[in-house]
Amino acid sequence: MSAGLVQAAYIVAALFFIMSLAGLSKQTSAKAGNYYGITGMTIALIATIFSPSAEGLAWVIVAMVIGGAIGIHLAKKVEMTQMPELVAILHSFVGLAAVIVGFSSYLDPAETATHAEHVIHLVEVFVGIFIGAVTFTGSVVAFGKLRGSIKSSPLNLPHKHKLNLAAIVVSLLLLNYFLNVNGSMFALIVMTLIAFAFGYHLVASIGGADMPVVVSMLNSYSGWAAAAAGFMLANDLLIVTGALVGSSGAILSYIMCKAMNRSFISVIAGGFGQEIIISDDAEQGEHRETTVEEVANMLKDSKSVIITPGYGMAVAQAQYPVYEITEKLRAKGIEVRFGIHPVAGRLPGHMNVLLAEAKVPYDIVLEMDEINDDFSETDTVLVIGANDTVNPAALEDPNSPIAGMPVLEVWNAQNVIVFKRSMNTGYAGVQNPLFFKENTQMLFGDAKESVDAISKAL
Ligand code: NDP
Repeated sequence: MSAGLVQAAYIVAALFFIMSLAGLSKQTSAKAGNYYGITGMTIALIATIFSPSAEGLAWVIVAMVIGGAIGIHLAKKVEMTQMPELVAILHSFVGLAAVIVGFSSYLDPAETATHAEHVIHLVEVFVGIFIGAVTFTGSVVAFGKLRGSIKSSPLNLPHKHKLNLAAIVVSLLLLNYFLNVNGSMFALIVMTLIAFAFGYHLVASIGGADMPVVVSMLNSYSGWAAAAAGFMLANDLLIVTGALVGSSGAILSYIMCKAMNRSFISVIAGGFGQEIIISDDAEQGEHRETTVEEVANMLKDSKSVIITPGYGMAVAQAQYPVYEITEKLRAKGIEVRFGIHPVAGRLPGHMNVLLAEAKVPYDIVLEMDEINDDFSETDTVLVIGANDTVNPAALEDPNSPIAGMPVLEVWNAQNVIVFKRSMNTGYAGVQNPLFFKENTQMLFGDAKESVDAISKAL
């Protein structure tokens, strides 16, 4: 393939990536968005593998077969609820790849004509390795926290912000030294170790409740790491793609921070400016329990019903019976709508994907802002496996770890039924005063079994 053809293919691939992002921004066009992305990536891979500068085709194919086989196996095996973990670990690979590309580009630099080009190359290597190393360890910690193998509470080392600042200042001094001695391996290795520790500390300091933002922020970092690798390899498409991922991840993080009423700077600086709050998960009074029959009767007597799903619906895979009861109630002339919190579940859009999978019509699935004022005129709310996203403490208790996060104000409805298995807390580890309100009743058990039983009773 000639160099000109490769460049043309790169431009076409970049256009497909932009169309993919545009498609993914709406549910109705999300499927097409995925196909655009796949097409763009296929063109990009073919053009890169057959470009005139590519060497060792056999090795590339062997690596692709092994990597592709592992990828297909993992993607088939992974549960929807484990998706954020998979995304986090994939980000760590991007980070590690940027570190490896950085060292290889340092050890085997391309010919540079001028001194200025040589200095620019050294800066690219240094910055690329730094971003890659932070992304690598940060993503590994995020993976551990999402999986539950690392505690989700924030790590609070003494003087943690000074430690972060020191890591950045020392890295800048090392960059200066690296450039002055014309590329010192020693400076590069010390900076890499500091960046590994910095990435670990940055994400370990962020509490579980802010994890959604961390995942999208690491997505952004992995984009910048890929762009840095693109500069080192002089690959324009990698620069463009990295910048697209980097900026879209940053925009998503910003939107999520706004949705959760968190300060963007505070979250990305590892919880900067946050008070250390000890969460209180003690029970706060008496709760009432109900039965499947009672709930079925209550639903039949209602004129309007809102369903607010959360992580538990995903774990139980209750979306299919949820669709069944939705159809049965609508057939009786009862208005049924869904209220979706922006961070319900474990990844952005998690609930929308599950409900779409179960064929719930899009027009009855509303965002939190669109439905929050309607709870006061609603007869029955079914909270299915949601907890933090319907916690009134976020609005009422300024000391709560989730204070200030907008929530679905389900307690304003006539009746609230909470589907869960026990009185355990949700992801943020805080008690939920909703469970002890006068108009709330608990229906204990696996969400799928409970909803199935209600569907039969209806
Ligand atoms: P939560 O994680 O707060 O609560 C889920 C509830 O589901 C639990 O209280 C659990 O109670 C219940 N549950 C679990 N399994 C079942 C089951 N099989 N049947 C019935 N109930 C079950 O859920 P939310 O969706 O309300 O909130 C999401 C949380 O996750 C937020 O804190 C958010 O910040 C965080 N997060 C969100 C991400 C995102 O991008 N959306 C990413 C990472 C974190 P019990 O054990 O008693 O059954």
